[in-house]
Amino acid sequence: MPIHPWHAGLNRVLLGAVVLLAGIVPADVFPASPPAPKGVEGQYSGKQGQIILVKVPTDDAAAHVHGSFLGRTISFFPDSRPGETKGFVGLLGVDMRDEPGTHELAIEIKNGGQSRTLSYTILVVKEKFHVEHLKLPKDKVDLDEKSVTRWKAEQQLVQEALATDSQMKLWQPSFVEPVHGKRTGIFGSVRIMNGQARNPHNGEDIGAPLGADVAATNDGVVRLTVDHIFSGKGVYLDHGLGLYSMYFHLSEVLVKEGDLVRAGQIVGKVGATGRATGPHLHWGVKLNGARVNPYALLDLPFKGVEQSAAPAPVTEPSSGVGAPAP
Ligand SMILES: [Zn+2]
Repeated sequence: MPIHPWHAGLNRVLLGAVVLLAGIVPADVFPASPPAPKGVEGQYSGKQGQIILVKVPTDDAAAHVHGSFLGRTISFFPDSRPGETKGFVGLLGVDMRDEPGTHELAIEIKNGGQSRTLSYTILVVKEKFHVEHLKLPKDKVDLDEKSVTRWKAEQQLVQEALATDSQMKLWQPSFVEPVHGKRTGIFGSVRIMNGQARNPHNGEDIGAPLGADVAATNDGVVRLTVDHIFSGKGVYLDHGLGLYSMYFHLSEVLVKEGDLVRAGQIVGKVGATGRATGPHLHWGVKLNGARVNPYALLDLPFKGVEQSAAPAPVTEPSSGVGAPAP
C-alpha cells in the first residue's frame, strides 16, 4: 500500500488545547512565544518512489493551499471524496532517491491577504530496489562524443518543457494502465550495463507486442513529443498540478504537442525505438519533480469520486493550459 497516514490523535488534542489557550490569552502574549515544534500538525509516511495523499482540513473552501517538501512544491486541491472532512488534499511524490528518515512538509494556507502555516512530518521509508544486470551492444552503452552532446541537449529540452506546471488539475479520479502486459517490476532498480552502474531505472517497463495500443493514463495535455537517443519516440503528458506521465520506445506517436487527451485515448503504439532490447512500453511518472512508480497512480483512493466538471481553483497564473476538456 502506498499510503500510510499515521495521524496521531494526540496532535489534535494538543492543537485543540492551543486553540483554546489562544481564546483566553491576550494575543500580544504570543509574539514572544517560541514557534510550535516542526512537524507536529500532521504525520504521514511512504516508501521511496510512492505517492502519499496528504490531507489539510479546513473549512475555508476559497483558500489556496501549497506545500513545500525537500525544495519541491506540492499543490493542494479541494477534497471531494465522499465521507471525508472538509479540506484539501495534495499528492506528495516521494522520489526514488529521497533520503530515508523524517522531513518537514511546510504547508501554507492563503486567503486574500491572510495566510497561516502548518508543519507536517513525512517519514520516508527505504525501498529495497533491485539491482539489474544488462548486456547491450557496446556502441549502445558507451556513447561517442556526438551522442553525449545530443543526449545533453535532449535532457535540457525535456527539462524546459516540463519546467512550468499547469496550475489546473486536469486528471480525473481513475487512472488507466496504458498497456496490459507483463510488468517487469524494475522501477527504481540500479542498472549495471556491461559491468558499469547507470542511473536508476525511473519507470516501469511493460512487455507488449510491437504495435499494441498505448493509452493515456488520464486526461492531460501533450506537453512534448520526442524522438530521443535513449527514450526513442516518446510522449510527455501534463496532467496539471505537477503531475506528468511519459511513454517511451514507441513505434508510432499518434498525438501532437498541445493536444488535449482523455484518459484511455491512444497516444501511440508499442515499439522498440531508442535504447530498447525489444518491444515494450517504458511508462514513467513525475510528480512535483519526484520520480515515482507509475503504478502508484492506480492505487490512489479516488475511485468512486464523482467526476466534477468544475476544475480546481487556479492558484497561480496558468502556464498556457486554457481550460480542461469539457
Ligand atoms: Zn524502461
